[in-house]
Amino acid sequence: MSPADFREAGARVVEQVAGYLERLEALPILPPIEPGDVRRQLSAAPPSAPEALDAILGDYARIIEPNITHWQHPGFMAYFPSVATGPGILGEWLAAGLNSNVMLWRNAPASTEVEEVTVSWLRQLFGLPDIFDGMFTDTASISSLLSLVAARHVVPGLDARDEGLAGRPEVGRLRMYCSTETHSSLEKAAIVSGVGRAGVRRVAVDEVFRMRPDALAAAIAEDRAAGFLPFCVVATIGTTSSTSIDPTAEIAAICRRERLWLHVDAAYGGAAAVAPEMRHLFQGWEHADSIVVNPHKWLFTPFDASLLLFRSPEVFRDAFSLVPEYLRVRQQGEAHDYHEYGIQLGRRFRALKMWMLIRYFGAEGLAARVREHCRMAQELGGWVDAHPTFQRMAPIPFATVCLRHVPVALAGREDEPEVRQEIDALNEAILDHVNRSGQIFLSHTRLGGRYTIRVNIGNPRQTMDHVRHCWALLQEAASSEVA
Ligand code: PLP
Repeated sequence: MSPADFREAGARVVEQVAGYLERLEALPILPPIEPGDVRRQLSAAPPSAPEALDAILGDYARIIEPNITHWQHPGFMAYFPSVATGPGILGEWLAAGLNSNVMLWRNAPASTEVEEVTVSWLRQLFGLPDIFDGMFTDTASISSLLSLVAARHVVPGLDARDEGLAGRPEVGRLRMYCSTETHSSLEKAAIVSGVGRAGVRRVAVDEVFRMRPDALAAAIAEDRAAGFLPFCVVATIGTTSSTSIDPTAEIAAICRRERLWLHVDAAYGGAAAVAPEMRHLFQGWEHADSIVVNPHKWLFTPFDASLLLFRSPEVFRDAFSLVPEYLRVRQQGEAHDYHEYGIQLGRRFRALKMWMLIRYFGAEGLAARVREHCRMAQELGGWVDAHPTFQRMAPIPFATVCLRHVPVALAGREDEPEVRQEIDALNEAILDHVNRSGQIFLSHTRLGGRYTIRVNIGNPRQTMDHVRHCWALLQEAASSEVA
């Protein structure tokens, strides 16, 4: 494609995306299609001859764009947010144009230094001390995996990096601790790092889904007495189901006493630390050995972008660095060769979109949006609390509201298994009713074994009108034939 053709096509793509963002709200969030519907419209075989861009973009507009689930839609209140704002999208495009591969400084000088600066900006925005260094990865799953491998690396006498794990009985005795609410990505990290699912001990939570430090301390003591090898604890700030916050300061004290690595999963909640008045929720995370926050969740950054912060860069470097001859360069001055701190050699230039976005919104703009989302969630929580048949299922420390409808006739009888099943089925039907509207999309979880509807607010395009509409649909479903 010549530069002139690219310029013309690029203008059309900009127009397509701008139009999409304008049309967005009129689209059904969940496309009314079945598995295979899109595939059937695509050619099964690759084209043998070049095709005109007109035809390609036409198919994009006709087949692909309308048939995605619209994460950008302000009625999308499922899971956690993942919203791409304008400056972030433009940053993605510029990064694609440069195609900078951020493996080592020599190959990517400006990209490396933008990453260094942006990591430092985010650390400052979160109010964390300057001891923390870090880098970007694709997802929290990978940030946590790297952290677990680093934690394993400093287990005295293990030397898994060089000795491997096969045939070593002591490896089966490694133990990491997290709560029953911890995200599945930590268990996956245990699978990949050789700790195994058997090495993950899930610690009990209290009545509002926070890890119980007393249960953690007891589990560690019991394991040590039985000859296990505790090495790592994961505290979550903003759990996936209820957004509960583990008592990180108390957990950090246990880790210090027991000499265990502390990994903090703030993939969702971390964004809220940009608002200084919310930092009290993060007490203790400054003691962590590693922290993950996902800007692609609640910091308006296009997928993907996960920030991994670490207290000791040298541990990560020691755990992962292998420099083949062809990458050895004499270099003066200080700069990161980022490939040495993780698994990947080639890395995307993710920092650019965040550097642009942070400048575009400023610290105050980011904090104002996060604050407004939390305020909207509190308002919805108030309506739930005041309603005769809806129940709030968890506190609202951030911007996610967990709720459930219990008809008056069944109230107080939830201990009876059939009644609980009936209420679960009812709430499943309510969720389905709301989602079939196409205007609001919610997801669910289970809290304390009860089917729970989650409403997540976190899109800068959301206003109270969207929240009111969501609440109206929930009430309509609860009072209609659905219920
Ligand atoms: N940690 C928490 C608390 C999450 O809620 C999630 C996903 O929602 C993850 C980790 C995994 O995030 P990612 O998709 O970036 O791997």
